[in-house]
Amino acid sequence: MKLQNYVSGGWTEGAGDGAALVDPVKGEIIAHASTEGIDMAAALDHARTKGGPALRAMSYGERAALLGSIAETLIANRDRYFEIAQANSGNTKLDAAIDIDGGSGTLKYYGAIGKGLGDAHYLRDGGFERFGKDDTFQAIHIRVPIQGVAVHINAFNFPSWGLWEKVACAFLSGVPVLAKPATATALLSYEMVKDVIAAGTVPEGALNLICGSARDLLDHVDRRDAVAFTGSADTASLLRSNPAVIRKSVRFNAEADSLNTSMLGPDAKAGSPEFDLFVREVAREMTIKAGQKCTAIRRAFVPRALLDDVAGALEARLAKTVVGDPRNESVTMGPIVDKGQQQGVLDGIATLGREARTVVGGGAFAPVDADPDKSAFVPPTLLRCDDPEGASVVHEIEVFGPVSTLMPYDTPEQGFALSARGEGSLVASVFTGDDKFAGEAALGLAPSHGRVMVIDDSVGKLQTGHGIVMPMCVHGGPGRAGGGEELGGLRGLRFYHQRLAVQGNKERVQALADAAAEVTV
Ligand code: NAP
Repeated sequence: MKLQNYVSGGWTEGAGDGAALVDPVKGEIIAHASTEGIDMAAALDHARTKGGPALRAMSYGERAALLGSIAETLIANRDRYFEIAQANSGNTKLDAAIDIDGGSGTLKYYGAIGKGLGDAHYLRDGGFERFGKDDTFQAIHIRVPIQGVAVHINAFNFPSWGLWEKVACAFLSGVPVLAKPATATALLSYEMVKDVIAAGTVPEGALNLICGSARDLLDHVDRRDAVAFTGSADTASLLRSNPAVIRKSVRFNAEADSLNTSMLGPDAKAGSPEFDLFVREVAREMTIKAGQKCTAIRRAFVPRALLDDVAGALEARLAKTVVGDPRNESVTMGPIVDKGQQQGVLDGIATLGREARTVVGGGAFAPVDADPDKSAFVPPTLLRCDDPEGASVVHEIEVFGPVSTLMPYDTPEQGFALSARGEGSLVASVFTGDDKFAGEAALGLAPSHGRVMVIDDSVGKLQTGHGIVMPMCVHGGPGRAGGGEELGGLRGLRFYHQRLAVQGNKERVQALADAAAEVTV
């Protein structure tokens, strides 16, 4: 099977064999993807000239309905997508649900908030500005949709959610999309886009897809476009320094690596509710999607006196993980996405081993229903570093697999400072029953994180998960995490709108304001 590219109004096959997509359990090639010969400049131009005007002619309310119809198409084909996620990504049912339902759920969420924006075609942000005693001359700020293409370059670990969470914000804003899923797991994105295009609700040129290498794509972006990238920090810095991106001041948003923190409060005791919730969360984050989540807990900080208790509790919990082929119902953790990444994870564990010892993992290991030579499994691996102050690699290397390092802290301030040594992360979680510490931790961790989740017993069952990105909350983080922002309700539309101050006679300013949807973004 060869994945095709949907560009310039039709499905086109790239030349040559292209890259292979592999089943990470069986080691068999299941498809190929190539963009060889695709005219990227023409693809972008078609999106700008056909898709953009068609979407901008629709109101926010009409575009919200479009998001709803896309979600319906995805929901109707859900079972088939689960099989693809199992075959190409080695997902368990839970892993696949997070990705697939996360995609349709985010579309529905943006459909619902878009409905509230009604018939408007642009947004008003904030109130009227006066410049003196006489209010005849005034100003407002409006946001209008950008007139280019949203170029979405996505990571391999969320071929559904990563695709649709970005499309949701761009489409609601009135901006066409050219999406490039990561090649290794592009099959799911491809099948989904095929179904959505076949459903016939998306205007021509609005949704475009390339499967395979991006090749010269970014050389053709211009001042009208917006590039939203998700992937490693190294690729992010390469792409943001593309000459066309720099010279033409192209909007660029990056969601990248992270050494996310979870912290157990100094008030915790072995067996206290927050202690148990913390242990459950660290184990869950290590095993969901085999730890291949940008938000997964990489560093777990606990009061020094509790280090042995936490290590023991995590060891007991992780011992219940069944690693193997997710087609077997007893399996609770699947493989790493491919052999190359498996080797990367094993190398990363060896590097962390210079500063940390193994609590769980290492040694002999036999995945269920899989040949270790052909498959790409890594067992859950918990490391322990007793001297995080003197360590360096545990704060620097993101090992993108079922791997976490447990570390002690002596004072809360030291814990916050150690967390900040990750150089900027997406998310931190704090487990404490102490309200005062909860507040201090939220503010202490805030400068180096995009989201802080503060958990006590009262929200233990309701909380959405350290690593789960909810569309109503901002997703992104400073520094190494990319310095970007996605989602966050209406805030997610900012990237796809140009903000403009309009100054003039108060009646004219009022008339412009009356036609806008009133929001604060
Ligand atoms: P990656 O190797 O950086 O690739 C990301 C995307 O960039 C892929 O689509 C890749 O395409 C593309 N790409 C690579 N080189 C390119 C180039 N020269 N020009 C244009 N596109 C290029 O990352 P990954 O391995 O897919 O994902 C893992 C990383 O993503 C982890 O570090 C993880 O933390 C991070 N991540 C972050 C988030 C977040 O929301 N912050 C979410 C998920 C993952 P090909 O596949 O064709 O090479």
